[in-house]
Amino acid sequence: MHGLMMDRPLLISSFLEYASSIYGEQEIVSRTVEGGIHRYTYAQADNRVHRMAKALTALGVESGDRIATLAWNDHRHYELYFSVSGMGAVCHTLNPRLHPSQLTYIMNHASDRYLFVDPTFVKPLEAFYATLESLKGIIIMADAADMPDTTLPNVHCYETLIADNDADFAWPEFDERTASSLCYTSGTTGNPKGVLYSHRATVLHTMSVALPSVLHLSAHETVLPVVPMFHANAWGIPYAATMTGAKLVLPGAHLIGEPLYELLDGEGVTTTAGVPTVWLALLEYMRGNGKRLDGLQRVIIGGSAAPTSMIEAFQDEFGIEVRHGWGMTEMSPVGSINTLKPNLTGLAANERMAYQAKQGQPVYGVDMKIVDADGAELPHDGKTFGELKVRGPWICNGYFAMDESKAHAEEGWFNTDDVATLDSEGYMQIVDRTKDVIKSGGEWISSIELEDVALRHPDVAQAAVIGVAHPKWDERPLLLITPKPGTTPDMSDILAFFKGKVANWWTPDDVIVMESFPIGGTGKIQKGELREKFKDYKLPTA
Ligand code: ADP
Repeated sequence: MHGLMMDRPLLISSFLEYASSIYGEQEIVSRTVEGGIHRYTYAQADNRVHRMAKALTALGVESGDRIATLAWNDHRHYELYFSVSGMGAVCHTLNPRLHPSQLTYIMNHASDRYLFVDPTFVKPLEAFYATLESLKGIIIMADAADMPDTTLPNVHCYETLIADNDADFAWPEFDERTASSLCYTSGTTGNPKGVLYSHRATVLHTMSVALPSVLHLSAHETVLPVVPMFHANAWGIPYAATMTGAKLVLPGAHLIGEPLYELLDGEGVTTTAGVPTVWLALLEYMRGNGKRLDGLQRVIIGGSAAPTSMIEAFQDEFGIEVRHGWGMTEMSPVGSINTLKPNLTGLAANERMAYQAKQGQPVYGVDMKIVDADGAELPHDGKTFGELKVRGPWICNGYFAMDESKAHAEEGWFNTDDVATLDSEGYMQIVDRTKDVIKSGGEWISSIELEDVALRHPDVAQAAVIGVAHPKWDERPLLLITPKPGTTPDMSDILAFFKGKVANWWTPDDVIVMESFPIGGTGKIQKGELREKFKDYKLPTA
């Protein structure tokens, strides 16, 4: 027997409809590409979003068309999340830091019909525009006065389209499983793969991540996603802020140090989110300039492991709670978040930190299991590790225009390619990515755990551990570090620092100090590049 409840479709357009009618006066603040600060309200955003949907309809955009964006986190990009998806088209966010050949591959694979582009990317786009096969036109995200000179054909001005159309546009109602947005994984191996989100998945994900135990959003909060809007929908924050009527602050292209600090401080941000490299720079800036962020309540750190030293710095030095999260583009993206369960608050500080350093509890809606090489489930004892598999209503069940996917080999589950433990309290801990784990003499060494130890050393700013070929052990760990400003790390001192903190045979065989690390498009250290660079490195133990 079915329940007698209405089957209203879960659609992205409902977020902004709700925010504009209930929290219409709430602010969206953004740092623009032109340089200044732009402020308006959910009600004003809603009006412009309707105008743009009408403009797109007039340009011939139809349901299911892929509409690409090449843009930073600002109010116009925010509007496209709603105008494009709201009308039934697919908002395809592109990572502007990718190589032009990758952008060409992705845009042709997705058959993007229109492209919205920040003025800053117009020149680079001119250089590879000829390789794009499906584009009908380009919309430059600027007002008429700031339109750059360009050789690009079929160019429109964003603000002119808004001005020339009225807001008399009713959101269509359609099947909630309709595609809403598209994001390609960065494809560290092979070609990038397209993750095609649906309205239903996005609405359910949003409801779960807005909760107090995850992003803690409401109209009393101010949230700033440092995570780019092209990185898995900025972890869902633009939707979750809108659904809850939170004040939203968008940082534009300035994601590092002082400009970020100024926005966090000046706009009274209570929750922010991003990858560890961003927080490293912010911590350095605050320490170097004697600054604090007393209004900031919590920092969500994900995308790569949050080092224990970083969690301690935020919490102990600055009184800001860290929530360590984990997810993937394929998971909309949030899979887990770490908040301390009430039954664990009484633990001694070091035991609490051992929990806090984990990637946390699965959010409601995500099921997890760890399995061995034969697919048999492993115990939740916090020690046994295996391949992490997940399932849930916002996890992809295939890739866009791709017939086969190894990750979906087991019916109903998605293989994350991460190795993890699960414990009896429900916490998940990532041991490593399958491709990063170091295989030494048939045993596994976690690069994340070694990096975590190295980062506790006072002279180490950044750390990356990679496996290097070894004649006896197959692979041994090589520690790469960048020094903290003003320090000269001593190799033997750093290696001695591992004593008693990990098993002796885990201690790296060598340390190399580097000036900087290669950082990828989403702000993560590129271990693949480091492995390539040091593939012929001869360890002193070899
Ligand atoms: P990419 O593979 O290009 O980094 P994603 O941004 O989708 O693409 O990253 C997902 C992966 O990032 C996860 O599978 C995991 O390996 C890693 N990751 C994300 N969050 C964390 C975290 N908190 N700790 C460790 N690894 C993480």
